Amino acid sequence: MSDLHALFGGTFDPVHFGHLRPVEALAQQTGLARVLLLPNNVPPHRPQPEASPTQRVEMLRCAIQDRPLFAIDTRELQRDTPSWTVATLEALRAERGPQQPLAFIIGQDSLLNLSGWHRWQDLLSFAHLLVCKRPGYPAEMGSPEMQRWLETHLARDVAQLHQQPAGAIWLADTPLVDISATEIRRRRRAGLSCDSLLPAAVIDYIDRAGLYLK
Ligand code: ATP
Repeated sequence: MSDLHALFGGTFDPVHFGHLRPVEALAQQTGLARVLLLPNNVPPHRPQPEASPTQRVEMLRCAIQDRPLFAIDTRELQRDTPSWTVATLEALRAERGPQQPLAFIIGQDSLLNLSGWHRWQDLLSFAHLLVCKRPGYPAEMGSPEMQRWLETHLARDVAQLHQQPAGAIWLADTPLVDISATEIRRRRRAGLSCDSLLPAAVIDYIDRAGLYLK
């Protein structure tokens, strides 16, 4: 197996088990050596996060303290312009050279919006695309153009992800975890427990910082 590394971008407002568990299963299935969590700065497709960039990074730190698979990459927080994923992948590819296998991880919901992303068809020039299941988003959905693109680039087997540096799409058979950050923020405002939804260390941080109360 090669040293396959993956980036996993998100708002992480806050990070939760819907992020961590599918990606841990994906790493097992595909032999991922490292997952770099990539907190977005000004997410092009979304309203601004409630937690500050520093707070979102701190929550990620709490979440991964006993999860050696993960590390944090703060590059998108270090600039003011919108964080186009394709530009981040291009920069990572330049750093790692042309041969190292690299991947970008998204949930099924993001796959359905992918055709709205800046230069979306170029993503595969720099990395593989690994897609985790998400409840409520069946794999068959998406535009005919997207379906054709998927079929053209679907990986034949896991080995392909290690043999090629980029260019394949892997639809992973990951556990369905019905958790969203929106639901966590809603429960928190309503004074409801979030104990089973995210790591205890993240909940402690949220409590200490007084996040998601209004
Ligand atoms: P929000 O509820 O604020 O929109 P979110 O819970 O969807 O947030 P994000 O940080 O926006 O989380 O998601 C980052 C990435 O994680 C996206 O690719 C998304 O598809 C994926 N993801 C989030 N939650 C899940 C989940 N429960 N199962 C699988 N993938 C998920």
